[in-house]
Amino acid sequence: MSDPVDKLSYDHHQHLPSDMTLRTKALESVLVEAGLVDPATIDAVIEAFETEIGPHIGAQVVAKAWSDPDFRARLLADGTAACAELGYTGEQTTHVVALENSAEVHNLVVCTLCSCYPWMLLGLPPTWYKAEPYRARSVKEPRAVLREFGIDLGEEVEVRVWDSTAEIRYLVVPERPAGTEGLDEAALAALVSRDSMIGTAFASSPNAAAGG
Ligand code: FE
Repeated sequence: MSDPVDKLSYDHHQHLPSDMTLRTKALESVLVEAGLVDPATIDAVIEAFETEIGPHIGAQVVAKAWSDPDFRARLLADGTAACAELGYTGEQTTHVVALENSAEVHNLVVCTLCSCYPWMLLGLPPTWYKAEPYRARSVKEPRAVLREFGIDLGEEVEVRVWDSTAEIRYLVVPERPAGTEGLDEAALAALVSRDSMIGTAFASSPNAAAGG
């Protein structure tokens, strides 16, 4: 299987990352010099993103939805409130909309404008999510993009593409794999990858996850 990152990572704005890094550094210096921000605060935020915030949080939400039908209903009705029940609140979970994948419907999340993403639930977005090819092609030819990620959907499956915004962050609840009836929430969460919560992967089957 080809690596979708190879196909999606090219970007004609190659100068942007280093330029953006420089601009960010310059902005930080100005704010620190003006006494508007404490460098320790910036370090703490970066530390949180690197060590605490990540897709394991979203995976807990999905595992709970798989295990608890009442929670699942609440999550689909009001993602923000359901995440808050588990203690996950913050800027990026202000408007969480959960989308459930099934045998009939496959949801795929993109931000066509930039890289809006449910950070508090998934951590930082992968490079391909921010790349122009993914942002453009997910809308125009989602089935082709999904095939490059290894998901080949039959025509009977409806594909729904959701464009994230600064106000709405989507979380895909992947379909619960077969053979997981006896698993507890922790074991279920281990089957839920970052990509499965964006819609570019399925949840792992327990046999595959165990290497069997
Ligand atoms: Fe965006």
